[in-house]
Amino acid sequence: MIPPRFEYHAPRSVSEAVALLGQYGSEAKLLAGGHSLLPMMKLRFAQPEHLIDINRIPELRGICEDGNTVVIGAMTVENDLITSPILQAKVPLLAEAAKLIADPQVRNRGTIGGDIAHGDPGNDHPALSLVCDAEFVLEGPKGRRTVPANGFFLGTYMTLLEETEVMVAIRVPAFAAGTGWAYEKLKRKTGDWATAGCAVVMRKSGDKVTHIRIGLTNVAATALRAEQAEAVLLNQAFTPDNIAKAAAAAMAICEPAEDLRGDAEYKTAMAGEMVKRALQKAWSACQ
Ligand SMILES: Cc1cc2nc3c(=O)[nH]c(=O)nc-3n(C[C@H](O)[C@H](O)[C@H](O)COP(=O)(O)OP(=O)(O)OC[C@H]3O[C@@H](n4cnc5c(N)ncnc54)[C@H](O)[C@@H]3O)c2cc1C
Repeated sequence: MIPPRFEYHAPRSVSEAVALLGQYGSEAKLLAGGHSLLPMMKLRFAQPEHLIDINRIPELRGICEDGNTVVIGAMTVENDLITSPILQAKVPLLAEAAKLIADPQVRNRGTIGGDIAHGDPGNDHPALSLVCDAEFVLEGPKGRRTVPANGFFLGTYMTLLEETEVMVAIRVPAFAAGTGWAYEKLKRKTGDWATAGCAVVMRKSGDKVTHIRIGLTNVAATALRAEQAEAVLLNQAFTPDNIAKAAAAAMAICEPAEDLRGDAEYKTAMAGEMVKRALQKAWSACQ
């Protein structure tokens, strides 16, 4: 299917992109990897009259360190997350989880910023951002602001991003020594979105959990941080009983949409299973 006609713009800087967004308002859309936007245009779910291609803005690409924080340019593609020595050393969860996103072709063009900005609850980076305590740097006509991932996702395809803002970077604190992590993603086949997914970041002292983040993918209108489930485990012994209680607390906040991947009951049950697996894997990885 062919998308509707649009005018194409290729700014060379973020400020130029912001100016174009200001000029064309709701008639414009930013184009990153195009792997979510173009299918929506072909299906006529999105019909922007102006496409602002941000692929020619070098400052939006790449991964670097700012003190103890890893800074990922919004236009960095999934394959570059996988091969980044900085990410592998400082936030290995993001490098490993990117391998579970789509397929190699999509990962070659699809960007972390596009994955987050799209606001699709089926995308993996929203829940990963939540458990990593990530922050997003957004630039608009009034300058830059930094917002936490927790609170950014408002609904399906709805985020805190204003119409005139560009996501510039994702800032992620480096994992402290001894951090355990896991991303468990149930999918029907390679390249599919999650039927249910769970990301966990954890630290321990002796038999107790001293830090815990649990994020859920594709079981509600947005990615979810399972704070009640975290509260069950924090400062408690990591026992089978507490794992089961945490999984039950996570399942209690699931409201998945029924689709070809399953009905709500099945997806909720699978979310509970993913939570249990991710918790056990992260615990085993803690030092
Ligand atoms: C077959 C297939 C399988 C897939 N499987 C998965 C999967 O398992 N997990 C997963 O997470 N994703 C999956 N995806 C989605 C893929 O990861 C997309 O690349 C991603 O959702 C969007 O990134 P993009 O760079 O392609 O953005 P685009 O499609 O170009 O843009 C998406 C939206 O975000 C906006 N946007 C993009 N960049 C910015 C920015 N810097 N600032 C502000 N707004 C911006 C655009 O205007 C648009 O509205 C899959 C896609 C395909 C085609």
